[in-house]
Amino acid sequence: MRVRLLEATENPEELICRGARNDYMEEWVAEQSFEDAMAGVEGEDIEEKKANFLAKLLQRGHYGPFEHPSATFAIEGASRSCMAQLTRHRHASFDVQSMRYVSFDEVDPADVEDGEMVVTPPSATDPDWVGRNQKGDASEAEVEKREEVFRSSVRQSVEDYQELLELGMPPEDARFVLPIGTEVNIVVTLNPRSLMHIADMRAAADAQWEIRDLTEQLLDIAAEWCPHTFDYYESEMKHRKNRLAP
Ligand SMILES: Cc1cc2nc3c(=O)[nH]c(=O)nc-3n(C[C@H](O)[C@H](O)[C@H](O)COP(=O)(O)OP(=O)(O)OC[C@H]3O[C@@H](n4cnc5c(N)ncnc54)[C@H](O)[C@@H]3O)c2cc1C
Repeated sequence: MRVRLLEATENPEELICRGARNDYMEEWVAEQSFEDAMAGVEGEDIEEKKANFLAKLLQRGHYGPFEHPSATFAIEGASRSCMAQLTRHRHASFDVQSMRYVSFDEVDPADVEDGEMVVTPPSATDPDWVGRNQKGDASEAEVEKREEVFRSSVRQSVEDYQELLELGMPPEDARFVLPIGTEVNIVVTLNPRSLMHIADMRAAADAQWEIRDLTEQLLDIAAEWCPHTFDYYESEMKHRKNRLAP
């Protein structure tokens, strides 16, 4: 799976600070320079003031200002299972590649067997992989058999799907035989608050490996986009199930 930033609010942390400073001053924030708006905040320079102020907001649970900026990410090759998990989060906007208008009629089922088009879970191929709900250790022979069953099953699904298309079935109905691991491209727009909330739930140990990977990739990009916010999140909040929406 790959994740890229498509578009994001410029100076997001300045915007968060301006939003929050609005709450504490008599003047109209629109007519104040950023330096003036941050005048009462502790810090040697404007960068330090920003970092201190953002940390204080997060510490206090004053999360509203973190909803002002937004970032739009393009995700390539998530499974439909992962997509179902991600789209449960309601404070995000989504575009999801259609299986009505995009049909997989040109894909070679032999390539699907080799890992194209359907996400292969690590437990299908890695004998050392320990899944959360796994029942006991698996022998190498069992994992080899798993891989064989998994690969032939996804190949068969795609062969059946393509046969149904050839028999004139519309893609939106033929897709019913495709596996839940079928890859999908997604565009998602999030604000820092919703991303931190999603990370609270989905970067956690009890979340599935694929959405954890996705969330970590989102967090890596966010760390460049909103460095002070996500630095504080990583060091003080992550893995503590803060539940940003108490
Ligand atoms: C490890 C794990 C296992 C899961 N297993 C299952 C499962 O087996 N079956 C299943 O169906 N789901 C499952 N989920 C999904 C989970 O129950 C949530 O639906 C999903 O994670 C969305 O998160 P959220 O509820 O925080 O909502 P979000 O949409 O992310 O909303 C953020 C917050 O806004 C508030 N909020 C939003 N909408 C409402 C509302 N209508 N009313 C009140 N408050 C609201 C809540 O405080 C919420 O936490 C699982 C999630 C995880 C992380």
